[in-house]
Amino acid sequence: MTETTNIKAYGTAAAEAPLNPMDISRRIPTAHDVQIEIQYCGVCHSDLHTAKNEWHGTIYPCVPGHEIVGKIVRVGDHVSKFKVGDTVGVGCIVDSCRECQYCQEGLEQYCEPGMTGTYNSPDKYLGTPTFGGYSESVVVDENYVLRIPENLDLAATAPLLCAGITTYSPLRHWNVGPGHKVGIVGIGGLGHMGIKIAKAMGAHVVAFTTSESKFAEAKRLGADEVVLSKDEDQMAAYKGKLNFILDAVSAEHDINAYLNLLRVDGSLALVGAPENPLPVAAFSLIMGRKSFAGSMIGGIAETQEMLDFCGEHNIVSDIEMIDMQQINVAYERLLKGDVKYRFVIDMASI
Ligand SMILES: [Zn+2]
Ligand SMILES: [Zn+2]
Repeated sequence: MTETTNIKAYGTAAAEAPLNPMDISRRIPTAHDVQIEIQYCGVCHSDLHTAKNEWHGTIYPCVPGHEIVGKIVRVGDHVSKFKVGDTVGVGCIVDSCRECQYCQEGLEQYCEPGMTGTYNSPDKYLGTPTFGGYSESVVVDENYVLRIPENLDLAATAPLLCAGITTYSPLRHWNVGPGHKVGIVGIGGLGHMGIKIAKAMGAHVVAFTTSESKFAEAKRLGADEVVLSKDEDQMAAYKGKLNFILDAVSAEHDINAYLNLLRVDGSLALVGAPENPLPVAAFSLIMGRKSFAGSMIGGIAETQEMLDFCGEHNIVSDIEMIDMQQINVAYERLLKGDVKYRFVIDMASI
């Protein structure tokens, strides 16, 4: 039997219930585990979707949080990659089968039997759901733990673990770099990271927004140009001009309007998750051999690569710090898009 200890957390017992303090069990570190005292945890839109069962399949009680940073306070007997005192991070993945082709290739996020999510996945050790970062501490196999560059502000680094890798991975996969014109659609939690990372990769960045009030912000974040997406003339000026588009919008929007902006062989990758199917006109793709694609977070090695890249280029998220007790208000504000650009919970407040 796996030995456990009780710790403080914040979670919810039902879809309609607010988040409240609760006690949860964490396993005592086994041979390859590290125990991390959580200092900060980012608030991702997925946390809210899962807590409220909007994607269905939430197992209650649910403790969200997969943008975790903190310090190692205990290591298992055979841990070789980390030691007590190390500053580390945990993103969306805490385990996977480690044997399928995707795991072998470092694509744990697409593990065939399914990765173990940081929350709301079956916990291999305890038989409960996994519980996320809205908690005092977490115990994770060292192979799923990331090293945090020392020069980065720790609280502002937390969102890199989900929002950062979600945008970095497709930008890398589609070889974004110098000489490329890249569109970033939507300037929110994901989009603001997309702008910073694409710019640091050397691309010419064109940000698309529905709100003129975000023009100055987009430029401040690093966009070379900003386009008001509801203005047809502004959109027409970019027809056939972009090599790649990262679409970070979770609301309904006209995907064909963006596919028309791609050059021949250009790709548009979705990282946002609109609730309803998006209609795609065949001619939007045929005329120019274009690809309509999607991407989900990134593997462990690539997440480390992203963190190191952000360390080199001094990239962190723009955050608003909250106490744990403010989480329900933060969720309400998140629903209205009222945050610049990520809430991060100071876990000392729990
Ligand atoms: Zn997330
Ligand atoms: Zn696998």
